[in-house]
Amino acid sequence: MRTPIIVGNWKMHHTIQQAQEFIRTLAHVTHHSSKRIFIATPFTAIRGSAEVAKGTNIVIGAQNMHEAESGPFTGEVSAEMIKEAGARFVLLGHSERRHLFHETNELINRKMKRTFVHSQRDRLLPILCIGETLKERESGQIKRVLCLQLEACLKEIDPIEMVLAYEPVWAIGTGQTATPQIAEEAHLICREFLTNLWGQSTAERINILYGGSVTPETAFELFGQPNIDGGLIGGASLDVKKFIQIIGAS
Ligand code: PEP
Repeated sequence: MRTPIIVGNWKMHHTIQQAQEFIRTLAHVTHHSSKRIFIATPFTAIRGSAEVAKGTNIVIGAQNMHEAESGPFTGEVSAEMIKEAGARFVLLGHSERRHLFHETNELINRKMKRTFVHSQRDRLLPILCIGETLKERESGQIKRVLCLQLEACLKEIDPIEMVLAYEPVWAIGTGQTATPQIAEEAHLICREFLTNLWGQSTAERINILYGGSVTPETAFELFGQPNIDGGLIGGASLDVKKFIQIIGAS
């Protein structure tokens, strides 16, 4: 059985102080929860958030990182840096990174490999995001697109502990949530791909999250699908009450 994971992606929101207040409230309300609760904060708030989250069931992570170990990359942040600040996971390949910052599958593959900070054991958990555009969906290319993204992003990577997030681009920040049936169908395609790549027992252990305009109203039915193992929540994760309701629905 996979324990549901609910990830909040704060994007470019929340100062250190706002992040700490949010996490205190969240920890207070959810301290009995058996769910795995993750928050991807802005880089600047990782350390302050990790301090407040210490000893709670909340795990802090980053929204991105650079693929190199170190070097002359002005404005960039490495895996080691975010790990030192307190990040335990990192989002990779979010559609905003792909579309606004032109990240390719090949770049994301290099970042996946870089999540091994120093050794196989010293590792950031990658949450790999994939998903089709509306045009790709309407032209019936969902399976081809998802498999191509998975193949390229996981190229030359041995079976690893990771989380996958299916996030249809047309559903992110649009208020247009995928129906549970549409999402489940895509998750099955992903699970099948992972089974062919790494075998059934590894594929069965990997949480596949749904992301795209999840709200407290839509969460329950989505998370009730057999292959939807939690959610990646953008807009609704900025409101602590809504986020807690979504955690409750998982
Ligand atoms: C996201 O940013 O990953 C996301 C799913 O955003 P939203 O929930 O706002 O659609």
